[in-house]
Amino acid sequence: MKFSLGSILPSVDRGWKSMYSVCALQTCQSTLLMRSIQSRVGISVGQLWYCSVDCFATATRKRFSMLAGASILEMPHHPRLSIGLVMLSKGYLTDDQLRFAMAESRLHGEELEAVLVRLGLASERQLAVARAAQWGYPILGQDRMGQPVESDIPPTLLHACTAVPLHCSTAAKRFLLGFVYRVEHSLLNSVELVTGFRAEPCFITPTEFREQTGRLTTVPGCEEVVFEDPSSPVEMANLVASFALEVAAREANFAHCRDYTWTRLSGKRRMIDVLFRVKNAADAGKMRNFLMPKESIRSVG
Ligand SMILES: [Zn+2]
Repeated sequence: MKFSLGSILPSVDRGWKSMYSVCALQTCQSTLLMRSIQSRVGISVGQLWYCSVDCFATATRKRFSMLAGASILEMPHHPRLSIGLVMLSKGYLTDDQLRFAMAESRLHGEELEAVLVRLGLASERQLAVARAAQWGYPILGQDRMGQPVESDIPPTLLHACTAVPLHCSTAAKRFLLGFVYRVEHSLLNSVELVTGFRAEPCFITPTEFREQTGRLTTVPGCEEVVFEDPSSPVEMANLVASFALEVAAREANFAHCRDYTWTRLSGKRRMIDVLFRVKNAADAGKMRNFLMPKESIRSVG
């Protein structure tokens, strides 16, 4: 028989509710007594709270199943003007130079931008300025490069998006993220969802990207695990649950960035980002080789 604490103890109803929250899993089997014992080890996901890792795992399985069922359509944003036309309008190139570079690009199957740099017709900086104009975002001021940043964004996501944190203000809860080729909105959104920090984009050159990546350090107690080819939502949920146990997670956040689902599990002392690559990358060439081949994945008990 179900009864509510409120009916027996109306005066302390509010206090009891906050102490013994209701498990968000509708099929939760825990009794009220069990919940009160387990309440200390529950896991929060946004406004939801799960009384145990088991309930969290069941809910996570549903979450991943829904994700697998829904085809995630990321609307690729294409700038209105081509990079060549922007370069032309900025006076960085003449008509003849652009025509020649475009012919070279077609002939060798090489990106126009790479051709321009190879032929010495444009500098990385000019191309970055052109991209910024193309996308309507600022370019990083040359005087603002070179700050070491402690980052908790998974390196795999940064690499997949050719992005790097340039500046971080903990007080303002803001990140400045530099992009080389295009602004990846899924990265901006997922960073905000998972970290609560607002990420603001700007453009940088490939050289600046490499140099700044070298200056990044990882927030202590923060770790990334990547699974390139998860077999099923059940396997994904089981892995997430095992990591939740490992870090004694109190909180979990879920987001989606490009081809990855990103689950952050936060315990008191440790934090782990579990990434699953859920579809083949459209442009596999830009993807890096993963540090963790499937065989080396830690076994799940
Ligand atoms: Zn429960």
